[in-house]
Amino acid sequence: MATPNVNFRPTRPVESVPGDGSLAGQAYQDLRQRILDSRLKPGTALSVPALARSLGISRSPVREAVQRLIHDGLATHVPHRGAEVARLEIADLIDIYVVKEPLTGLSARLAATKLTQDDVGTLRLMMNEQDAALAGNAHESHFMALDLTFHTFINRVACNATLLDTMAQFDSKTNLAFPSAWSSDEYARLSVREHHAITDALIAGDADEADRVSRAHVRNVRNRLARWHGYSGASCC
Ligand SMILES: [Zn+2]
Repeated sequence: MATPNVNFRPTRPVESVPGDGSLAGQAYQDLRQRILDSRLKPGTALSVPALARSLGISRSPVREAVQRLIHDGLATHVPHRGAEVARLEIADLIDIYVVKEPLTGLSARLAATKLTQDDVGTLRLMMNEQDAALAGNAHESHFMALDLTFHTFINRVACNATLLDTMAQFDSKTNLAFPSAWSSDEYARLSVREHHAITDALIAGDADEADRVSRAHVRNVRNRLARWHGYSGASCC
């Protein structure tokens, strides 16, 4: 399978991951990855002494790494018990998608006017890879990575630092539950079809259409997630 030559804008790394190379930074990246690929499941205790032993480092950088996970919303502090991997309730997830909908439309609207020829080539390669993943019945974790790459690329082309940071925070949280958005062949097929519509509008330079189909994609993903989780509606705060 071809790997897309993704020429991300050189403003920041792909995700908001500290790349400082420190022990705390390495521990953070290790734990973050374990959470995102579900090796550490929601509700798992993040015991600093136990993690320090398993990682073979002292407690101080592990404590710092856990604090970063809490800051990112990937872990929560539970009184009298310490930190644990965040449990994202379906109602919280739906709330995030409600806010993501107009922002994703805005991102596509901005990107439609800034797309370069290199960006067009990158988008086409990414869609080829998504089509190949569909044809090959790829694992949901692969779809999840392709989806994140696709949307992060558009956010970068949009070239608005505030929007990029905000979307990255949402992505950290939604990744906790995101595999369920790709859990059925039908859901994967629908999402890839919607990505094609977004790509076509972007390549056509049609900002209105890019906004419209991007909002529709997020709304549809939200509805599919709600159906998957048997969620019938929000209760008022
Ligand atoms: Zn998507």
